[in-house]
Amino acid sequence: MKQTLIIANWKMNGSILANSKLLIAMLKFHNKLQHVELVICPPFPYLHQVKEYMVGSNIKLGAQNVNENNSGAFTGEVSADMLKEFSCRYVLIGHSERRALFQESNDIIAKKITQAMDAGLTPVLCIGESLEQREKGDAQAVILEQLSCVINDIGLKKFKSVVIAYEPIWAIGTGQTASPEQAQKVHRMIRQYIYGLDPILSKSISILYGGSVNEINAAELIKQKDIDGFLFGGASLKSDSLETICKLK
Ligand code: 13P
Repeated sequence: MKQTLIIANWKMNGSILANSKLLIAMLKFHNKLQHVELVICPPFPYLHQVKEYMVGSNIKLGAQNVNENNSGAFTGEVSADMLKEFSCRYVLIGHSERRALFQESNDIIAKKITQAMDAGLTPVLCIGESLEQREKGDAQAVILEQLSCVINDIGLKKFKSVVIAYEPIWAIGTGQTASPEQAQKVHRMIRQYIYGLDPILSKSISILYGGSVNEINAAELIKQKDIDGFLFGGASLKSDSLETICKLK
């Protein structure tokens, strides 16, 4: 059976003290998580701190972004090899905040995925539509475009190691999560699209949901057939919420 994947995206939050408190709380329940792979994605400066706390636990480390180049004159950027050196296993790529605020195109996102994979990291490809696109009936086209651009660029063989995170932009940080039915409908559509390319991959690939997930709505969302886990922000900063969500299913 596929493991439930729970990824905590701390975004630009935290401090050495606040992180310590959260990590100590997490270490109290981590060994009860047999069926769950829990991944923490802190801001870059805290990767080392999280890594130190996680030694001996089965909690994994991830990063929130990576540069599309290998090395060189890219001031302020971080390469995939550097993340690997800091024991990262996963890296978020194409988060909607990066697409919107830092003009990341599908093209750049595909290059980042290649960099991540070449360094041995598992890329978590974030996709999702805006409210305007949904209301116009364009959600499916937007999502398939985001997926197909990457698949066409990196090839289906490489895509087999990618995790997909569906995060409708209108649900991120708004408290307005997609209903379980809404989320399942999109997840099903994504899986069917992959089925058309590779039936075996459609079963093995993990498709996570993100967007205002909390300890209350997570229970119904995770029961949906095509939801394999969560990528979540706000609730991942509260140890009680995190623990409840990790223990579901
Ligand atoms: P929230 O869980 O705070 O809505 O954030 C979702 C998200 O963007 C995770 O990457």
